[in-house]
Order: sequence, then structure tokens, then C-alpha cells
Amino acid sequence: MKPRVAFFDFASCEGCQLQVINLEESILDLIEIVDVVSFREAMKEHSDRYDIAFIEGSIARPMDEKRLKRIRSKANVLVALGACACIGGVNALRNQFTEEEVKKKVYGNARIGGNPYFNVFPLKAVDEVVKVDYYLHGCPIDRDEFAKVVTALALGKKPEIPNYPVCVECKAKGNVCVFEEGKFCLGPVTRAGCSARCPSNGSGCEGCRGLLDDPNTDSELEVLQKYGLTLKDALDKFKIFCYKSKVKK
Ligand code: SF4
Ligand code: SF4
Ligand code: SF4
Repeated sequence: MKPRVAFFDFASCEGCQLQVINLEESILDLIEIVDVVSFREAMKEHSDRYDIAFIEGSIARPMDEKRLKRIRSKANVLVALGACACIGGVNALRNQFTEEEVKKKVYGNARIGGNPYFNVFPLKAVDEVVKVDYYLHGCPIDRDEFAKVVTALALGKKPEIPNYPVCVECKAKGNVCVFEEGKFCLGPVTRAGCSARCPSNGSGCEGCRGLLDDPNTDSELEVLQKYGLTLKDALDKFKIFCYKSKVKK
């Protein structure tokens, strides 16, 4: 029996689901090993019977929490898909403001009391509401990594998510470090898995894959220290994608 797979979206730009749709030729290989039973962005059919749930987006409202808990209760395996789901992502920037400030900015003086669509709370990553089994990091996710994770899950194996810094992939590609060009880079403390996409194209890493589980080690700090920076300097820069600078297991 092929595992039944469903996709669900919460507060997000839906770019991670788009990455799945854009898998092109490898999507045919995946369809051989899993049954996609729900995927609003790609198909009309929907089933409430699924084994693996992919969750895109962060949790913004009480009604989202209820829906997410319902999904969790039906899924054997739940995977957080992308930075919004894994660490809050850019959505979590709003947590630096009070609820009233956010509502006033977005809705002005409109009457918002009692409307469930406007009833927001400080933004939460998925694992602040339910147990997450695996994390697929990035903004957006890496298509190849998604394909590897689905293949592993379909075979009943544990997907391997990198827990070493982007610098490792960057150096393996022979890139010139962007610090040498006077730019800042979060590669020493950011989880790898993107093939050092940004430094390979001349930009510093902005940390979209989140912090390493344990970034406070000598080897990871080496690059920062070389350029007169501390771990705190790096964490301060992490606010675009990881407002709370959460460390993921
Ligand atoms: S992680 Fe990025 S690409 Fe994915 S849904 Fe969130 S904002 Fe969009
Ligand atoms: S700091 Fe950035 S550019 Fe330099 S090696 Fe690490 S990932 Fe590459
Ligand atoms: S280099 Fe950094 S910001 Fe760029 S894709 Fe990789 S983790 Fe994300």
C-alpha cells in the first residue's frame, strides 16, 4: 500500500507548495511511491484519510489551531514545510508588535470584534501547537530535499535533515567567502541543505533554514571570530526568518 499524502496551508505565501508542484520530472517518480489525496493548490479532490501531512505556513488564529490539531489527530507523520511552518519565518516579524498595533495597521479603524477571520494571536510555528515529526527548512523549501524526504518516508525510513552549517556546503563548492567582500553572512550558524544557494550567487546567507540545533561550537564560530563578530551579532541578524531565534531539534 502506498502511503497517502496530504498538503495543508496556513498563513503563508504558498511558495513552498509551489516548489512541490514545480518538481517537474521527479514528481512522476514520487507519484509511483505515494498517493496524493489532498493538495488544494494542485487538485480538486480531497480526502480526510491520510498517513503523512505536510503543513505549510504558520499559525495565526484560534481557528487555525483547531484545524491543525484535527489534522494532527488524523496523520501518522506530520512534516513542517518551509520556514513559516518550521520557525515562524517572515510572518513572525509581526510578533515584535502588540496585537492591537498589528490590527490597527492592517485593518485601520474597521470593526473587528467577533469576526473569527480577524481574531489573531501572536504568530506560532507549527510545533508550538502540535508535535512535528520532521522539518523541511527553507524559504522556500528545496525541491530536491523534499523529494528525498518523501522517498525516505515512503520507504519507512527516517529522513536525514542536515545539522551542520551552510559554510560546509559553501566551502565544498569552492566559493570565495562573502565576508572577504565586506558582506555579512549567517552561513556559520544556519542549517545547511540548500547547497549554499545565496553565497554561491554572491549574497550572504540570511538564515532562511533556521539556526543549527547547537550553533555555539568553536568550529561554527571560527568564521565569525575571524571577522570580529560574535554569536550575538549573528543572532541579531536572524530576525528576518527567525524572529525568536528558535533552536530546532
Ligand atoms: S517559507 Fe517562504 S516560500 Fe514557503 S510559504 Fe513561507 S514565505 Fe512562502
Ligand atoms: S560565511 Fe558565508 S560565504 Fe563565508 S564560507 Fe560561510 S557560508 Fe560561505
Ligand atoms: S544560503 Fe541561507 S538564506 Fe540562502 S537559501 Fe541557504 S539557508 Fe536560505
